Amino acid sequence: MLTCTLCERTEAVFMRPYSGEKLCGRCFCKSMESKVKATIARYEMLQPDDKIMVAVSGGKDSVILLHILSKIEKRFPEATLCAVTVDEGIRGYRDEALKFAVKNCRKLGVKHIVTSFKEMFGYELDELVSMMREKGEGKLTPCSYCGVLRRRVLNTAAREAGVDKLATAHNLDDETQTMMLNILHGDVLRTARVKPVLTVVHPKLIQRVKPFCEVPEREIAFYAYLKKNEFQGVPCLYAGTALRNDVRTVLNRLEEKHAGTKFTVFRSIERIRPALEAMVEEVKLQECKKCGEPTVGELCKPCQMLEELSIA
Ligand code: SF4
Ligand SMILES: [Zn+2]
Ligand SMILES: [Zn+2]
Repeated sequence: MLTCTLCERTEAVFMRPYSGEKLCGRCFCKSMESKVKATIARYEMLQPDDKIMVAVSGGKDSVILLHILSKIEKRFPEATLCAVTVDEGIRGYRDEALKFAVKNCRKLGVKHIVTSFKEMFGYELDELVSMMREKGEGKLTPCSYCGVLRRRVLNTAAREAGVDKLATAHNLDDETQTMMLNILHGDVLRTARVKPVLTVVHPKLIQRVKPFCEVPEREIAFYAYLKKNEFQGVPCLYAGTALRNDVRTVLNRLEEKHAGTKFTVFRSIERIRPALEAMVEEVKLQECKKCGEPTVGELCKPCQMLEELSIA
């Protein structure tokens, strides 16, 4: 029997190849929770009296983030926690995930707001994808639309709820994939802006934080398994279209052969970020002439996208 390296009593059920730790279920969960607390402290993500909103899709990562943050929040009586789910309108996927989001929020007694693309833009993602395909919209994928529109809906929901922070469940895998994608897209300076705590550059933008940015996806999955949390397991039907999938496969292969690769990529970018930030001009945002939301140019990205589909 392999004994847990932390408590030295119980049988180990999880091995962390990058650190050599062998952990029992109890120590594994405790160490993951401590890791999240350490990340929050290192990046000064949250303050003791913050009003926090968690973006809960109903998938494993966001459900576990909600559980862990609700545990942490109990120790800070002046902090509050609520959740938001965006229904993008993806038939056979989001409707199912929404049920899990509702169920978990109810279980934890967390106030839950549900909002949608339909409500905000008048169309579901499925409808936008059909229009996009009819028009033969060049390089844009369903995920490009989905990501831009979801960020807008989340920011609006957070602002209307009057919260200080919007926590998203981006994990170490997501973050390293994004860093590699920025390089592959020839947009490496973008990495200066994509970070664990986003810099607020306009009063209408709510600060986004990523408490899971140092947690591998595999560990979130194991935590969910141990805690028997219920979540949406079926992937989105549009997910296969993204270059991100290829990057994920490559990084997973590298991690398997060379444990710790993802952490190395993450830390390397963290180290060069100050230099990248110094190279990027300070963004001056104005208000979109159509919807009034913050934007670099005259028209914001969501308005541009909808206009390209001739529906705005
Ligand atoms: S996989 Fe793409 S389309 Fe599906 S929910 Fe994620 S970003 Fe949206
Ligand atoms: Zn143990
Ligand atoms: Zn706009």
